Amino acid sequence: MNTESLPALLKGLEELSLPTMRGQCEAVARQATAESWSYATYLLELVDQECQQRRQRRIERWLKASKLPLEKNWQTLDLKRLPLKVAQQLRSLLSGDFLDRQENVLLFGPPGSGKTHALCAVSQELVRGDRRVLFTKCGLLVQELLAAKRDLRLPATIKRLAQWEALFIDDLGYVQQSREEMEVLFTLLAERYERGSVLVTSNLPFSKWEQIFKDAMTAAAAIDRLVHHSVIVEMNVSSYRMEKAKKAKTEPPASEAPGSTG
Ligand code: ADP
Ligand code: MG
Repeated sequence: MNTESLPALLKGLEELSLPTMRGQCEAVARQATAESWSYATYLLELVDQECQQRRQRRIERWLKASKLPLEKNWQTLDLKRLPLKVAQQLRSLLSGDFLDRQENVLLFGPPGSGKTHALCAVSQELVRGDRRVLFTKCGLLVQELLAAKRDLRLPATIKRLAQWEALFIDDLGYVQQSREEMEVLFTLLAERYERGSVLVTSNLPFSKWEQIFKDAMTAAAAIDRLVHHSVIVEMNVSSYRMEKAKKAKTEPPASEAPGSTG
């Protein structure tokens, strides 16, 4: 590279906030010279590197903002433990197409069956694919909505949540909420209907949602809105925690296992 123009180039790239291009322009120029690249190829290589860096940083930012538990990811999800149909459903969610259709995902199963892990794993992959997901525990979300209602800023809070393509509500119905608490949750679901996806995990089947929403009418209205455009996943598997605990009890420790070298 022409060393005379280098300082001005570095300064210009800094002013344009292109740190990767700034950091790489000299090294890539050496490669370009060695390999007789065209000017366009040189420029394209630098632009590519800048774009990749930005994308990676953006995804890291969104992963942090998503509040998803990062240890519950696709790599640590044992798909073999899940029924074939569930594994297929989860895989098909990875494309994120359902977000474009504002469809919901409702995942049912007993405690410990891996609902949170499975949907967190899918959500993390979605964020890595440049989609915006926010993870919330139902109990905390409801408290936040209630506080907002008291301060007369429920509409603003719901609007803020609308920025997320998918709102993940973990453990719907796990803690018994008061009528007032369920009303704000219902308002949120009604506002989001056909506008943004909701991902829900619950250990209560629809038949018991009356307990969650306190009356049959509200429960039916909530179910109606959630189910209208949705993927329903039934995790009919036993508790992963329980299985692990049982295994630990029945299996001798690794050091005593036959064939172990100790
Ligand atoms: P649920 O939300 O249904 O109560 P979790 O997703 O919290 O269950 O799972 C309970 C524990 O078991 C977690 O530590 C989770 O990481 C683990 N777990 C459950 N299912 C799987 C699975 N298929 N692969 C790997 N870990 C799993
Ligand atoms: Mg859970």
